[in-house]
Amino acid sequence: MSGQVPERSEPGPGAIAPLSGAARDAAEAAAAALAPARSILFVTGAGISADSGLPTYRGVAGLYEREATPDGMAIEEALSGPMMRRRPEIVWRYVGEVVRACRGARPNRAHAVIAELEQSGRRVCVLTQNVDGLHLAAGSRDVIEIHGTVARRRCMDCTHVWPAPGADDGAPSGDDGGAAVPRCPACGGVARPDVVLFGERLPDGALDALDRALRLGFDAVVVVGTSAAFPYVQLPVIEAARAGATTVEINPERTVLSDVVGHHVAAGAAAALHAMGGVLAPSRP
Ligand code: ZN
Repeated sequence: MSGQVPERSEPGPGAIAPLSGAARDAAEAAAAALAPARSILFVTGAGISADSGLPTYRGVAGLYEREATPDGMAIEEALSGPMMRRRPEIVWRYVGEVVRACRGARPNRAHAVIAELEQSGRRVCVLTQNVDGLHLAAGSRDVIEIHGTVARRRCMDCTHVWPAPGADDGAPSGDDGGAAVPRCPACGGVARPDVVLFGERLPDGALDALDRALRLGFDAVVVVGTSAAFPYVQLPVIEAARAGATTVEINPERTVLSDVVGHHVAAGAAAALHAMGGVLAPSRP
C-alpha cells in the first residue's frame, strides 16, 4: 500500500504527514460520505488546536492544563466565576498564560479545510469548545464559540465588550502594560476575559445561535478532536446519527461517540482533514 501520489503542490501543508493504512481508508470513506452534504456542522475541541502547537487544556472552559496552581488552589477554584468577582488578579494570572499561548498560535490545515468548505458554497457551521479564536482567524464565518474567546474582554461593571490587546493587530503585549487586572476603557471597571469560567453558565448568545443552527438541521455532523464530555457536544451528534445524517469523528483516541458515528477516523485533525479536503473542497481552477 505504498506509492502515495503527491497532491498538487500548494504551499500550506508541507509538514503534514500523509495518512496510511486504516486511517487513510477511513478518511477516504468519510470524505466520500460527506461529499454530497450541502450542510455540515463541525464540532471541535482542543485536538484541532493541538496541531497549532497549543496544549490540550483540560477543564470546563478548556482553559488550563495543570491540576493545581502554584497558589495551591485547584484550577476549578482559581479559574471560577466567584474568584473573578472576589480576586480577579488570580483569574488573570492563569488566564494570562493561556492568552500568551494563544497569541502566538496560527490556524492549521484542519481549520483551513473547514473554512474552505464554507467557501465551497455549503452551509458550514462550527461549534467549538476552544477559546483560541483560530476558526475565525482561518476565515470561517459561522462560528459558535460556546466557551467564549480570549480574543475578547468584557466589563464586570458595564456592558462594554472590546478586543483584547494584540488580538487583532498581533502586537506583542504584557497585558495593558502589565497591569495585574485590566480595566474597562469605558468606565474603569474590572475587565474579565470573555470566556466561560468554572461554575458559570454557557453564554445565552452562543446557546441561541446553536439552537437556531440545529433547528435548520444538517446533512452531516463532524466531530473533531474532542473527548465529547459535555452533553451540548454529544447531543447534536447523537441526534444526527439517529436521524440518519452522515456522522464522522476525527480523533486519534476512541471516545463515547466512536460507536455512535458512522465513520471514525483515527488520526490527528490536520492530517485527517488534509486528506479529506482534497475530495471535499478541491481548489478551483
Ligand atoms: Zn465598564
